Amino acid sequence: MPSTDPRYANSRVAFATAKRLMPGGVNSPARAFGAVGGEPLFIDHAEGAYLYDVDGNRYIDYIGSWGPMILGHAYPAVVQGVQQAVARGASFGAPTEAESELAQLIIEMVPSIERVRLVSSGTEAAMSAIRLARGYTGRDRIIKFAGNYHGHVDSLLVAAGSSAATLGQPNSPGVTAGTAADTLVLPYNDPAALAQAFAKYGNEIAAVAFEPVCGNMGVIVPSAEFLAALQTIPRTHGALLLCDEVMTGFRLAPGGAQERLGIEPDLTTLGKIVGGGLPVGAYGGKSEVMAHVLPEGPVFQAGTLSGNPLATAAGAATLRALRETNPYPRLEAIGQRFAEGLAAAAQAAGVPHVVQSIGSMVTLFFHKGPVRSWDDAAQCDTALFGRFFWAMLDRGVYLPCSQYEACFLSAAHSDADLDHTISAAHEALAEAVA
Ligand code: PLP
Repeated sequence: MPSTDPRYANSRVAFATAKRLMPGGVNSPARAFGAVGGEPLFIDHAEGAYLYDVDGNRYIDYIGSWGPMILGHAYPAVVQGVQQAVARGASFGAPTEAESELAQLIIEMVPSIERVRLVSSGTEAAMSAIRLARGYTGRDRIIKFAGNYHGHVDSLLVAAGSSAATLGQPNSPGVTAGTAADTLVLPYNDPAALAQAFAKYGNEIAAVAFEPVCGNMGVIVPSAEFLAALQTIPRTHGALLLCDEVMTGFRLAPGGAQERLGIEPDLTTLGKIVGGGLPVGAYGGKSEVMAHVLPEGPVFQAGTLSGNPLATAAGAATLRALRETNPYPRLEAIGQRFAEGLAAAAQAAGVPHVVQSIGSMVTLFFHKGPVRSWDDAAQCDTALFGRFFWAMLDRGVYLPCSQYEACFLSAAHSDADLDHTISAAHEALAEAVA
């Protein structure tokens, strides 16, 4: 954003205040717009497909709070559910029937989940699921894939080292070398690397954590060969398959990517949509594995606000609405239209690109493609993405503020919103390449 642009004056003031009070002025780093340059917009409120900033500008929103808002913002049944819940008391630290209601919905919707535990974020779900996998198998090592993000769990905040099946390196100060050494980082979409890692460390590996469709390096749909390898190799070595559906759960189908792609994990993590915009995460899977969680089993996990009444009300209202309104056919249709529109705009601008999408998750990569792994994604023209991002914002379209994210569409996006977005993309790309 040009620092003197009067359209964003109130956001600028708000950011200056926030920077004095919080590191980088934010409570989660992606919000600071570091990947696109400039200063973030401060949001006043949101409704349906629109965000309104503190200067009164309206934007068509393709972040949807980084995934949760599949029904659109301030969806009436969700608002009502939370209002009714808060009026009955915000938190009791004792069991409620509302927790069972949300658990029942999750179990009915997600094919592989037989029993579930509610937590307060995707990070917490991943951390707890990893501990459970280790406790269940009695093994220490885990596998993750480069470019997959599972929250800021120490053992998953690890980067690939120099060779394929390598011991991880911490990718944040504060993650100890010892923690990172228990994590093997492999290239995504590479069945041979997975086989090699198991050939070497097979009887030490507790779990393989993976995004069943990547969103955190932009949208990458795994190959059938990679999915087949994930479903056979770990199992033959007694390791658990941990499917991270924090982003894809309830989005790519009512039962998430596992329903859509036919994956049968041992454990699944959920977040985002399961809380309808409030802090909820969950992990679940086979009854036999979940029986190892305290107090039934010995693996510790707890939370003062786990299963909190407000959060469970928002989550249950969202899942019920998804079942009742079945927005999936429309999300497919608008996702495809959005993807085709972005591709046509990039084609017209003459920039190397590929659009990768599945359902309502879409990424326009500034790379000739295909993008199958982090090595491919890392070659994108991120400077061009930054110029495109700002040119779109100036035209009232709020995209995720990094090349390495998915755009999320919601049931509230109208045909007119898509028309505006696609014509804005033509103009913005012409401007960004000029
Ligand atoms: N797993 C995936 C696939 C995610 O995309 C995210 C967050 O973006 C997380 C886990 C972490 O979730 P949270 O931010 O709720 O801790």
